[in-house]
Amino acid sequence: EEISLPDILQVRAAENSDAAALIYQGYRMNYRQLQEEIEHLSGFLVRSGIGRGEAVALLLPNCIPLVVAYYAVLRMGGIVVMHNPLYTDRELEYQLADSEASAVIALDLFGNRVIDLKKKTKIRMIVIASLGDYLPFPENLFFRLFARWKKLSAPVKPASGVVSWKKSLRHATAPLAGRTSNLKDVAVYAYTGGTTGLPKGVELTHANLSRQVQQCAAWFPQFKSGGETMLGALPYFHAFGMTTAMNLSIYKGWSQILLPRPKSGSILEAIRKYRPTFAPLVPAMFAGMLRDPDFGKTDMSCLKGAFSGGAPLSQDLLRDFENRAGVTIVEGYGMTETSPVTLINPFEGRKKRKPGSVGVPISDTLCRIVDSDNGMADVPLGKRGELIISGPQVMKGYKGRPEETAQVLRDGWCFTGDIAVMDDDGYVFLVDRKKDLILSGGYNIYPTEIEEVLTSHPKVAEVCAVGVPDEIKGEKVKVFVVLKEGQSVTEGDLLDYCRAKLAAYKCPSLVEFRGELPKSIVGKTLRRALRDAEAKKV
Ligand code: ATP
Ligand code: MG
Repeated sequence: EEISLPDILQVRAAENSDAAALIYQGYRMNYRQLQEEIEHLSGFLVRSGIGRGEAVALLLPNCIPLVVAYYAVLRMGGIVVMHNPLYTDRELEYQLADSEASAVIALDLFGNRVIDLKKKTKIRMIVIASLGDYLPFPENLFFRLFARWKKLSAPVKPASGVVSWKKSLRHATAPLAGRTSNLKDVAVYAYTGGTTGLPKGVELTHANLSRQVQQCAAWFPQFKSGGETMLGALPYFHAFGMTTAMNLSIYKGWSQILLPRPKSGSILEAIRKYRPTFAPLVPAMFAGMLRDPDFGKTDMSCLKGAFSGGAPLSQDLLRDFENRAGVTIVEGYGMTETSPVTLINPFEGRKKRKPGSVGVPISDTLCRIVDSDNGMADVPLGKRGELIISGPQVMKGYKGRPEETAQVLRDGWCFTGDIAVMDDDGYVFLVDRKKDLILSGGYNIYPTEIEEVLTSHPKVAEVCAVGVPDEIKGEKVKVFVVLKEGQSVTEGDLLDYCRAKLAAYKCPSLVEFRGELPKSIVGKTLRRALRDAEAKKV
């Protein structure tokens, strides 16, 4: 269906005006109020001189202003820039310069940082929101004290071009007829996870977002329109949460619970309090819930299903969570460049899901596994190759990076940089990222193969294998190992364990024990950080 997200929301607000769209710390905002606030804010942005095609950056955790601002910017024909609000000043300055944002809507906690960056960037206007903005009196006053004490809020110094959230909404609105964008226009700059390098701004169009949300909705037909509750724990500034939590919920007319700090304790509390029926999460969140002391007292029977993506979901974790929570997890795969979902396991129905696999293509999507080092011929079933994707959710390109765009988008296909295998039934199994392969003595070594062997050791909790420089072989394998609590084991024991299970050329040369591994915001192990630190030592 050719309809943009803000138009979909308008339809929902007309059909379903009293249904709760957003649930935030006990406050419920219905679809009519949400639509009204979006109209007010988009009117304000237009009157403040923000034009069509101009970028507006959001520096907000999951909270009501984030959803209002996202839809308001799309509504007035602007481009939403999604930022991780926890970035350091240097990272933020890089992204704000890269996206050329003219306005920023930020949480008060980050207000002073943004004001300081105003001189160095194209920012003309800043709107400041607070996590307490929608709390009623007197909770809002208590919240303010609590938030200052907990460092969730900070006073913003007076500066020109700075407006409060409340004030920006007070603008009477002129109807914005005719401002709704062309579906081919860029709607969002979504930044990639930054796992393999600096985050890149991905241009997603209105058509990308709308088609993607329809693809996701079609995959879960047993979830009705309206009447369901979404657990909004994934950060919405990342494409995964933006699509599978925020936009899907609005497309289906559901209620969404907004969690600004997705610690396992607050996820479990939200499950007890609001009884969500659908939960898209990253593997680290499933693992965190299982470890949480409150897990036992949380009845999960409200959840009709959970979705995992973004990073590998180990089969142990899948089994443990399903057994202990009684909730089915469906694993899928995607990347920011594809809005993000492209492959997914069947939820129910004819074909069964396969644990360990990321599934089959979602509707209207094609995938192939090719020998991308030598042209693009398909590799035989069961053989490794690069996964390539085509579908209506594939990005327009990377903002301001024509060369990188040309490398990734070729002949109508999106080259994912992920190595995968397809089985006889057409299910895809991810192997590794192309950039993570260890090239040693003329061999390609797959780090996950080594990691799988070592994590099967009873005393080992987590492993990361990287290639470190070696004079003779080019690279040799080093493993970083986190042991299970209270366990001890020697380097020699682990190497013997590997030798019994792996060909000699794949066996690690070095072992380093760590208390924990560096992780990205969505819980991916940062191989690059470990590898770069090793490369620097030489
Ligand atoms: P960057 O592109 O900046 O290096 P990134 O690739 O981590 O960072 P994202 O777009 O957030 O940025 O993540 C997409 C990647 O996440 C995929 O290319 C894939 O490597 C990984 N991924 C996604 N889903 C899964 C999954 N279910 N299992 C394993 N890996 C996954
Ligand atoms: Mg990537």
